[in-house]
Amino acid sequence: MNFYSTNNPSHKVPLKEAVIKGLAPDQGLYMPEIIPVLTESFYSRLPEMSFADIGYQVISAIFGDDLSEAQVKQLVDHTLAFDAPLVKVEDDIYSLELFHGPTLAFKDFGARFCSKLMSMLMEGESRKVRVLVATSGDTGSAVANGFYKVPGVEVVILYPKGKVSELQEKQFTTLGENISCLEVDGVFDDCQSLVKQAFLDEELNREMLLTSANSINIARWIPQCLYYFYAYSRLPKSDKKLAFSVPSGNFGNLGAGILAERMGLPIDIFVASTNVNKVVPDFLHGNAFQAKASVSTISNSMDVGNPSNFYRLLALYGNDETVFRQKVKGFYFDDADTSRAMQSIKDRTNYIMDPHGAVGYLGLRNLMRMFPEEYIGVFLETAHPGKFKSTVDRVLGIDLELPERLKEFMKGEKKAGSLGNDYSQFKEHLLKKLS
Ligand SMILES: *Cc1c(COP(=O)(O)O)cnc(C)c1O
Repeated sequence: MNFYSTNNPSHKVPLKEAVIKGLAPDQGLYMPEIIPVLTESFYSRLPEMSFADIGYQVISAIFGDDLSEAQVKQLVDHTLAFDAPLVKVEDDIYSLELFHGPTLAFKDFGARFCSKLMSMLMEGESRKVRVLVATSGDTGSAVANGFYKVPGVEVVILYPKGKVSELQEKQFTTLGENISCLEVDGVFDDCQSLVKQAFLDEELNREMLLTSANSINIARWIPQCLYYFYAYSRLPKSDKKLAFSVPSGNFGNLGAGILAERMGLPIDIFVASTNVNKVVPDFLHGNAFQAKASVSTISNSMDVGNPSNFYRLLALYGNDETVFRQKVKGFYFDDADTSRAMQSIKDRTNYIMDPHGAVGYLGLRNLMRMFPEEYIGVFLETAHPGKFKSTVDRVLGIDLELPERLKEFMKGEKKAGSLGNDYSQFKEHLLKKLS
């Protein structure tokens, strides 16, 4: 299968190039040339299938031309090494818990798939790959842990100084080995823009093999569709229509849900739920898409003002804005709304949501209030509440017990260089590190 650029559908490249380049040279995002629709028999068998079996089928449908059956199995087994349970929170409302992986956020799925696929595609190459990652918090930890000690790969993580939680920071700055970190004097969008400039810098690309492990990379993005199939397979039978609400920042996760729907998964509607960084909800309400400076919130992994995957979402709907606006509803919530939802769910059901999941829950509730009794809904719980312990403790007035895995990370010592929000400084750092 070839992959085309959202900026120029006639620019097509094979899998290896799409994964190693990450971003197309014209700055477009790669998209699968064909979106395979899975068979009726696959859909009828879904409820009996294991997560891994679902994974083999879906990944073969997309990557089967390029990878052997054994490679597909290896990739899926490595990626789906932990469960994604569906937990009932209220009548017709389910939380899809995506935080049972090594760094306790959904990004573990994409990062594990991406690191495995990259090392498969790089077999036999003598050159090292350098993975550049901009993170608002959870990508850094998932990618660092996914690539830790992977031979032939070096990871450089850029993150906004003072804008990620201490726990998040510890998860990527304490590893060392092939993982190095730069604290940038700026916001997430500045980190993302530095990384994008590096990918487009011809001189730098002559010197080294650069790639990205952000959700702009198809190897990070595509595997995220798997848990939508799995969640669907575990839902109780219902005559109601199905909604998925996705707490969103860079919009890779929502895009992966739309990909699953385009592959035939019967999802009736998506909710794009955001914090006050609301450029996509604004677009969905009829305005033009307009990137803005990002604003800090308690759901900091979604503090994105210029979401990279927007044009990928549009491409999934055949670049038809009307269809896009019909199939995806957008809502945004401020920190006070988010805190109230966390508190109210805790009081009524004893379920503890992290601030990101709470935004997803709120989006779903809004939809269900607009269309009473019509929907059964799933919101994606994208991180373990312990990852945002200080916020969760403050909002709920508790002292949340941290999972063992998080406590382990807290013991490490932070190692990170500092960087101004300045491309020439970043480039110099990359060139110097090489020698
Ligand atoms: C990254 C992240 C998000 C946003 O996901 P996108 O794919 O960038 O929209 C939401 N919640 C958490 C906890 C995250 O780490």
